[in-house]
Amino acid sequence: MPAALSEALFGEPRSARPTTRPVRPAEPEPLLAAVADEISSCTACGLCSTRNQTVPGEGHPRPDIVFVGEGPGADEDRSGRPFVGRAGQLLDDILTKGMKRERASVYICNVVKCRPPANRTPQPDELSACSGYLERQLEILAPKVICALGATAARHLLDTDLSMARLRGGSHAWRGIPVIPTYHPAYLLRNPEAKKPTWEDIQKVMEIADRS
Ligand code: URA
Repeated sequence: MPAALSEALFGEPRSARPTTRPVRPAEPEPLLAAVADEISSCTACGLCSTRNQTVPGEGHPRPDIVFVGEGPGADEDRSGRPFVGRAGQLLDDILTKGMKRERASVYICNVVKCRPPANRTPQPDELSACSGYLERQLEILAPKVICALGATAARHLLDTDLSMARLRGGSHAWRGIPVIPTYHPAYLLRNPEAKKPTWEDIQKVMEIADRS
């Protein structure tokens, strides 16, 4: 893409953002723990005043696949774990029944690490206050593929305002790692007809993850 078009579309010169694919460190566990520790005392945005628990993310420290959602809901805020409510049960089904993978074999996290009140969409200042945590997690995890669950995660990772309809099926990457945008499990609970296209996206995720 020409630099001027990139700048007009994405708001900053492409050259200003790192483009190299992260290399997974030899010992990701303490690095992930350090990020989670920082998150636990974060006061960078107003969400810290309404949260019960921070929800840094969880899963395999050397995953092939990272799922990125929007932000914790009430169940996650209570437990400190991502995707444990109704949407999380559907994600578990996608993983275990559809993908034939254990939840513990992937990493699951969110763009924002504290619950937005009444589950509203995170605001731009909250997304930017939290973005460094996700960036560091993805650098440490360095998965083969990232699955963005819902428009908020996809737009944030890809630095775009495009709709999910426009993003799905396209070829995208974050720092050289393929990103597959798909519908959020909470959306699937309200719109079961979106399960079929979601399964097509998940098959692409598996195809990339299974490449040697
Ligand atoms: N929705 C999300 O986006 N993330 C969670 O952790 C739970 C619900």
